[in-house]
Amino acid sequence: MLLNLKEILAIAEEKKCAVGAFNTPNLECLLAVIDAAEKLDVPVIISHAQLHENVVPMSKIGPVMIQAAEAAGVPVCVHLDHCETFEYMEKALEIGFTGVMYDGSMLPYDENLANTKKAAAMIKNYNCGLEAELGSMASAEGGKPTKVGPVYTDPDQAAEFAGETGIDALAPSFGTAHGIYKAKPVLDLDRVKTISEKTGLPLVMHGGSGVSPEDYRTGIRNGLRKINYYSYMANAGAGAVKKLLEKENTTFFHDIALAAQKAMQEDVEKAMLVFSGR
Ligand SMILES: [Zn+2]
Repeated sequence: MLLNLKEILAIAEEKKCAVGAFNTPNLECLLAVIDAAEKLDVPVIISHAQLHENVVPMSKIGPVMIQAAEAAGVPVCVHLDHCETFEYMEKALEIGFTGVMYDGSMLPYDENLANTKKAAAMIKNYNCGLEAELGSMASAEGGKPTKVGPVYTDPDQAAEFAGETGIDALAPSFGTAHGIYKAKPVLDLDRVKTISEKTGLPLVMHGGSGVSPEDYRTGIRNGLRKINYYSYMANAGAGAVKKLLEKENTTFFHDIALAAQKAMQEDVEKAMLVFSGR
């Protein structure tokens, strides 16, 4: 069942839980995530990151994601993650994505504000919700350090940003980072609570994989409604492939792909259980 970002986050708000958002740059990831969501009967967001254009073009995987969402027995939002150009966003809207994130967090505040407003105007004629980012994380999508380093989101500025742009979800910066954590992340979850109260918006945790279950739970209590989770899932897939190849001399690629898919599904299920409050 295909839902838009606003609708799926409303379910999370009602249940006071978070919906997991998982990147699906190939069929194994897509099957792992959809099968996990159906098995646990939870809503889910499947994402394509602009960064993964070299892994698979959105023009090819996008329609497959939408078909999978429509056929799924649970609510699914098809989301564009970290979009930095309007041309690319337009393409996603035309394909039928029901959520987009415009990421202007690397820009000066005024530019981010103006561009996010433009993105909000762009999605108006589509069945699509908008997420935006304010503040800067320690590392960008893909795990490389950002130019400015971590700048935690100012709650008052977030309230102004939310009011002026009319976005449906906000990704604040409060200590998470993209990629694999080298040390245990220290999160400012009180800030999440303040931003949630001041903006009244569902909040998004980026760099969500590798965070402790305890921090997830506190974050969700404080207003996190979407948790982006990918690096550790992808890592679980790679780990399973290494193990399989050490153990036996595999001839067929489909056996390797299946081993990765199963390991990713297992990892995703664990995350979904925590996000859904179970
Ligand atoms: Zn992100």
